Amino acid sequence: TPILLWLRRDLRLSDHPALAEACGAGRPVIPVFVHDEMVAAAGAAPRWRWARSVASLAAALEDKGSRLILRRGDALPTLRKLVKETGAGAVWWTRLYDAEARRIAEGVKAGLREDGTEARSFPGHVLFEPWTVETGSGGYYKVYTPFWKNVRSRDPGSTCPTPGKVPAPESWPASDKLEEWGMGDAMDRGAAVIEPHATVGESAASHRLGAFMAHGVQDYATARDLPGQEGTSGLSENLTYGEISIRSCWDSGRRAMEEGKKGAETWVGELVWRDFAHHLAFHTPRLTTANWRQDWDAFPWNEDARLKEVRDWKRGVTGMTFVDAAMREMYVTGRMHNRGRMIVASYLTKHLMTHWRIGCDWFADCLIDWDPANNAMGWQWSAGSGPDATPFFRVFNPETQVEKFDKDGAYRRAWIAELSDDPPDTALSYFDAIPRHWAMDPGDAYPDEPLVPAGEGRRRALEAYEKRDF
Ligand code: FAD
Repeated sequence: TPILLWLRRDLRLSDHPALAEACGAGRPVIPVFVHDEMVAAAGAAPRWRWARSVASLAAALEDKGSRLILRRGDALPTLRKLVKETGAGAVWWTRLYDAEARRIAEGVKAGLREDGTEARSFPGHVLFEPWTVETGSGGYYKVYTPFWKNVRSRDPGSTCPTPGKVPAPESWPASDKLEEWGMGDAMDRGAAVIEPHATVGESAASHRLGAFMAHGVQDYATARDLPGQEGTSGLSENLTYGEISIRSCWDSGRRAMEEGKKGAETWVGELVWRDFAHHLAFHTPRLTTANWRQDWDAFPWNEDARLKEVRDWKRGVTGMTFVDAAMREMYVTGRMHNRGRMIVASYLTKHLMTHWRIGCDWFADCLIDWDPANNAMGWQWSAGSGPDATPFFRVFNPETQVEKFDKDGAYRRAWIAELSDDPPDTALSYFDAIPRHWAMDPGDAYPDEPLVPAGEGRRRALEAYEKRDF
């Protein structure tokens, strides 16, 4: 009987444990992508990007004599129906670790088993399974450095072979048409602007990794902090949809370490931050929705996303140039440099004293590399409410950050049209990327003063912090 391979954030053929085992099982394999409750709940940019990834995998499967069956509906009833139609005896998938994905998969597992269908999950989304990395006393790590020390020299196992052919069933079940799902419809900003900034699919991802290993990794430790340069791999959008396996990134990084490439260990350490975030999401499911440190519930956050200051932050018109450059980079490219993410998150949560969830949700709508665990951990780290967070009293000063990380102004010039007489295309394209109803124009005046000046914001945040009743 056929195996249904339920694909979600594992849209690749190489180093795919569930696919490799299915192809070696001597049974037909029916790959399926379900537009389920998890996909339906994703933000506008992630859904748009997800569809691109699905299309790319569908084409790659055709080259292997297979197909990608598309179905829409909640995961369990949709898979049940497909099992019935195809006579499949098993449904296999790759494990995810955030609360929502797990809730859905646990429902699928229980439901299918009740029906007598084999339901089996596989590793592949992280380097190490969350239950295999333990502190000396048997708990999970809440701090990154000891976590890193624990896994630094571990072996995540060898990569699986890419199947030469994916065994097809005698007849294929019907499939929806991807275009009819309208996965880009919620983009009230210009998808055409983001399009050239996305690097979609498995072969593009693997090329990207190769190019980074050849040219980028050497200087990564310093270049990664300069948002005006391309000093990082850019692989997050590929990793989030599983277009490349984290293990092949690890292998390349380790090889580069052995070759003595200077930045390689720092880069491998960043891959481990990704595991750290997923492990935390697994062990403390509230990471993605609520303050990880529950005493932070008492902090007087602004929780009203309609306030002008939140609106100005979203639109990149706070008058704090580093913040605005980063927010604009996000609308145009669907990505934001890590330094930018830290600065805009600090400005929103500390200077504007706004709840991190508002920023976290906004990123979830705008980022093509949106990842539930990385995003929530990044926000809680920035806000001070997370495990291993930057202490609240360490308020990033967006003005001194500029001096350190964008001294020559390359980043700000690239993204803020109002700052120059002859703005570059990147900065101008912001006005095509934003929702029309924002009614913004490159001729608009840029704020003379920041919404909340660096010193004043810091003072206000620290006062609230010191008065806190927690
Ligand atoms: P590189 O620097 O080349 O690093 C390689 C890979 O390591 C990345 O692709 C990513 O998978 C992982 N990685 C690097 N830094 C981190 C980190 N701090 N935490 C976890 N994993 C990391 N990352 C996302 O993938 N999706 C998100 O939605 C996301 N939201 C964030 C929100 C905030 C507020 C902050 C502070 C960080 C967030 N990050 C997120 C982490 C980080 O900013 C991005 O992973 C990084 O900018 C991606 O660029 P890159 O692929 O060139 O990374």
